[in-house]
Amino acid sequence: MKPDTFTLGQNRQISIGGVTLAYLAEKYGTPLYVLDYETIVRRIRDYKDALNELCSPGQAFYAGKAFLCQAMAGLLDQHQMGLDVVSGGELYTALQAGFTPERIMFHGNVKTREEIAYALTAQVGHIVCDSMDELERIEEEAARLGCLAPVLLRITPGIEAHTHEFIRTGQFDSKFGFGLADGLADRAVERALDLEHVMLKGLHAHIGSQILEEDPFVMNTETLLRYGLDWNRSRGWWPEVLNIGGGFGIRYQPGDHPPRLTTVVSAINELLLHLTPKELPVPRIFMEPGRSIIAEAGVTLYRVLVKKSVPGGKHYLAVDGGMGDNIRPALYQAEYRAAIDGKVDRADMETVTVAGRYCETGDVLMKDITLPVAAVGDLLVVFDTGAYNYSMASNYNRVPRPAVVLVHQGQDYLWVARESYQDLIRADNPYAMTAAEHR
Ligand SMILES: *Cc1c(COP(=O)(O)O)cnc(C)c1O
Repeated sequence: MKPDTFTLGQNRQISIGGVTLAYLAEKYGTPLYVLDYETIVRRIRDYKDALNELCSPGQAFYAGKAFLCQAMAGLLDQHQMGLDVVSGGELYTALQAGFTPERIMFHGNVKTREEIAYALTAQVGHIVCDSMDELERIEEEAARLGCLAPVLLRITPGIEAHTHEFIRTGQFDSKFGFGLADGLADRAVERALDLEHVMLKGLHAHIGSQILEEDPFVMNTETLLRYGLDWNRSRGWWPEVLNIGGGFGIRYQPGDHPPRLTTVVSAINELLLHLTPKELPVPRIFMEPGRSIIAEAGVTLYRVLVKKSVPGGKHYLAVDGGMGDNIRPALYQAEYRAAIDGKVDRADMETVTVAGRYCETGDVLMKDITLPVAAVGDLLVVFDTGAYNYSMASNYNRVPRPAVVLVHQGQDYLWVARESYQDLIRADNPYAMTAAEHR
């Protein structure tokens, strides 16, 4: 809903982490991403505490794609979190920040040969393999480097989570993983067990994102566990690890009721106790939360620069950011809540559409949202933007990406500087062709 440290001060001014948003907007400019330390750390602790209750203590791996920079990697490492990366770039960011390689899990449905070699050389804890082609590529690279690749196989369990189709991943026709139903998973396990430089450590399945139910997580675990039992009977192989992915939803809107982590984890514990044969070790459960760690910790600050009413009675507030810093409304109709700083809970309200500054009709952050009557110059605060905002940001229209500031106990820390115009042209090569070559 909003960061845990959200408070309203005199003049209805919003503070987070003991710092007023008006001060941050003044100091760093807008648009601005603000993250609350307390909220992030509490969510990390929730996962740790819950997973420690399992009969075989589990481990949480934060999904870096939700939000990653070096300072975030540092925070996660300090708190002994694991980290999911999906590219050489995310891996580089984590390693440069000094993140412990053992707690890194390398993901993605397309990993290049170079990325696989990079992950193996860095000695990441696990690689999650997504296809037959990749399995062979991992074997070849591990053989070349003279090492053993610790591998989990990503299974498509055929569980349809009720979420937007773009962020659903567990159904049989997904582009991710090895299908259980079509026998591809069987072939993958068979092959992995035969490969000399692949050490098959376990199974993985991630069924989607922003899931608001508890059952799919438990069903997912049961599917993986029963699949492990099949393999134990047929070939004597047994998973050390069952990675059940991420996807815990958060409360973007008052009607959203997120699943309870403790409920899910205790149901999983029951499963583990009932289904694991006496003579075998209980598999370790890994979870990969992204959104549920970071989304609510973040808000974005925008300056209202234009008010405009158009024929048909539509009222626009236009702000100095938009789809370049938050693509989610345009990408999958994501809905956000917002406030006007200094006007929270005021009686005079209006229904407006908040438009961005980018040259697309679809650049709308919020459609027909009821807000206190805003004036040009007001600060618009959009909630729950910690996940999949900065990480999906672009330089569309050559607009520099905003800064990211962390707040904690009255202090502010610049985590990522605002991009400059120089940054925008840093990789440009204006002299690629000589004047003569233009003729
Ligand atoms: C995206 C993703 C996650 C994190 O999902 P959230 O919904 O942000 O928790 C975890 N694991 C995998 C494999 C993913 O693709």
